[in-house]
Amino acid sequence: MNKLPMAHTNTPRHMPESTWLAGPNWSRTRFGEIPKYQGGLHHIAPDTYAWLVPNGSWGETNLGLIDCGGASVMIDTGWDLQCTREMLDTCAELTRRSPIDTVINTHADGDHCWGNQLFKDRPIIATHACIHQMHHMQPRSLHALCQGGALLRHIPVGGIGKFGHYMREMFRPYDFRPVVITDPNQGFSVQKNLTVNGVDIVITEVGPGHTDGDAVVHVPSRRVAYAGDIMFVGVTPVMWSGPIEKLIAGLEFLLKLDVDVIVPGHGPLATHSDVQDVLDYWHFVHEAIQARFRAGLHPTEAAREVVFSPSFQQAPWAKWDSPERLVTSAHTLYRHWGEPASNLPGKLGTMNLMRQQAMLAFELPQATPLVMRGRRA
Ligand SMILES: [Zn+2]
Repeated sequence: MNKLPMAHTNTPRHMPESTWLAGPNWSRTRFGEIPKYQGGLHHIAPDTYAWLVPNGSWGETNLGLIDCGGASVMIDTGWDLQCTREMLDTCAELTRRSPIDTVINTHADGDHCWGNQLFKDRPIIATHACIHQMHHMQPRSLHALCQGGALLRHIPVGGIGKFGHYMREMFRPYDFRPVVITDPNQGFSVQKNLTVNGVDIVITEVGPGHTDGDAVVHVPSRRVAYAGDIMFVGVTPVMWSGPIEKLIAGLEFLLKLDVDVIVPGHGPLATHSDVQDVLDYWHFVHEAIQARFRAGLHPTEAAREVVFSPSFQQAPWAKWDSPERLVTSAHTLYRHWGEPASNLPGKLGTMNLMRQQAMLAFELPQATPLVMRGRRA
């Protein structure tokens, strides 16, 4: 429970005020990187908490807890049971006073809801679109990819080895075997207002964008919003679903909220200026990829060309974690422009995107986490 020495960052950014309360003493992140900010339980507003997991890479997912005096509301659960329990153990004293009585899932990505089975007897709230997408990935498939990756990485053909390595390293910190996907049992569309012991919580559907059913959780009296994965800090955002106009509208909605603290899905606590940074990224990406779409480039080649362009390399997002995710976002943009670039259906298509992301990651000497390319930090 000691405070960690902070890694030096070149560009100091304004972080909202918060108090670190407790957490494991992570001297390295799950991917072996030096933590860029303090992980664990942070007090971010009166009786309002964020569980931050540096550096916000794959499954290093932030969770939330709102203490409503005798009952708490939890925002999202972790990618596996051990991640979720790690947070619950740290909050044990708090949740003894105010037991978790409701869970909200911001979207259907496993790293935000695969701990749901620990709350299966309680209300779990999500958008209908989120619930519809809950089974788009299976824990056993990710486990198989992690296991198979260890073998595939020795195959030096067609990016298979890089794909194998990428899958192995990015899933390795997690144990998906005991996960049973547990669907939210209270769906809503557009907006849901929840009042727990007099504390108003407003859940607004902002998707589709990052996924089909993204939602933002706003606690007006605490001046806090939990943004889910439409908002990342220091980490490259990704658009699985789109359209980009809707994703941008979701970020503009966040920008207008009268709050002091925004808890992103991944990365350190955010302010409105961080939201503006993510908006700038999407506007840049939109324009840069569209120009290459018009020039007839394949989406993967468009993403590659943009990542290596001087205007990308000089922008703040060149240093964000996992820049290779632009491959997936480019494919989503093309799909909305009427050009599905992959003929592979569903999960096979996703795997093919991961293979192409892996190939790009191996070309980027600065990209973090370093372990995705077999290097140690
Ligand atoms: Zn996430």
